[in-house]
Amino acid sequence: MIQAPRGTFDILPDSAAQRKVVEEQTEKILGAAGYRRIETPTFESTDLFARGVGEATDIVQKEMYSFDDGGGRSLTLRPEVTAPICRAYLEHGMHKLAQPVKLWYLSSCFRSESPQRGRYRQFWQVGAEAIGSSAPETDAELIVLLADLLEALGVKGTRLRLSSLGTPETRSAYREELKTFLRAHEAELADTVRGRIELNPLRAFDSDDRRTQAVMRDAPLLIDRLNNEDAEHFAQVRALLDDAGIAYELDPTLVRGLDYYTRTVWEFTSDELGAQSGVGGGGRYDGLIELLDGPPTPGVGWAAGIERMLLAASDLAAPAEPVDLFVALARPDGTRTAFELARDARRAGLQAQLELAGRSLKGQLKHADRIHARWVAIVGENGVATLRDMQSHEQRDTKLENVIPTILRGGTP
Ligand code: AMP
Repeated sequence: MIQAPRGTFDILPDSAAQRKVVEEQTEKILGAAGYRRIETPTFESTDLFARGVGEATDIVQKEMYSFDDGGGRSLTLRPEVTAPICRAYLEHGMHKLAQPVKLWYLSSCFRSESPQRGRYRQFWQVGAEAIGSSAPETDAELIVLLADLLEALGVKGTRLRLSSLGTPETRSAYREELKTFLRAHEAELADTVRGRIELNPLRAFDSDDRRTQAVMRDAPLLIDRLNNEDAEHFAQVRALLDDAGIAYELDPTLVRGLDYYTRTVWEFTSDELGAQSGVGGGGRYDGLIELLDGPPTPGVGWAAGIERMLLAASDLAAPAEPVDLFVALARPDGTRTAFELARDARRAGLQAQLELAGRSLKGQLKHADRIHARWVAIVGENGVATLRDMQSHEQRDTKLENVIPTILRGGTP
């Protein structure tokens, strides 16, 4: 038997119904704040991610599904959607629109990671981007919108971690300072941390080695090195979140896996999830559009994983799909009449299904019960049908043409 590839999954109808709720809530919450939907292609030029996400990131180094398009060009299944949206912003001259341009998306993403609960190779993200504003209100509004979405979906045990990365210059000066600090304490560090001083000094903050942790308590923090404007921007974002009653933890070690972030970064985690606790996160990316050859343009956005939101909102109930009418057959020669009745009912705006499996009349009624049909019309002879109320179990004969109007009137003949 051929199975779906490792790390991918089928979205079966029950799950599709839950995802519809995610989509509707996203549209409602982001739509109310003026965000409009965008959809970009599933694959893009590899170069977009190499430049946009960053050559040195895990995503670009290890996780991309890249392939030759047959004409010598390298294409990549999108591992994230921010870089594609910035590409679209430039390609369609959206800088000419009123700024910021506020967009949301619901798209599949592809990363070649080792699969586990909450981590897949094809997964779905909803996300929002505001391009063209450097106002701290934009950062705060986006965080509030994500908090609202998580709350509306009933995502449990959420925590918000918040930090600021400052500018790339601040960050690289800080990296050098941190490296110098780590080198000075080399003897006290765990081997793995020592081995990564040059490549990834920030990882030292995540170490679970006791002695390393003791060293790191005195390590310099990026958040204390922000320049005046960045510090002021961050203070304003925090003040707005405080006013909005959004709880957060300042986490100066918050590093996100994408190179393009500047200033504010944040991540929502859920205690309901195991190792893969990140539900959604984002940040400001004031340099990204320039990296893609555009004019200096600030931007900020977030992405949240649909599978993780659903895992952490375990009882998200999708409304049952109503069935107004099930058309049953008393005799096999009534099929054309039954077919027409079901079609007319749908055209009149009813949810109508038709017997399709050749069941006995008893079997048809049982099936109608199972799918929670509100009414059953049993097509009989000479233009007459028996209309059965599946709640009261009352039934009466009526002319075929009366079936739909009767149902539309709620059962009054
Ligand atoms: P990122 O773009 O890495 O910041 O990811 C944003 C969100 O997407 C995360 O918080 C997760 O909810 C989700 N996500 C990222 N990678 C995966 C994956 N491999 N499988 C499922 N969800 C993911």
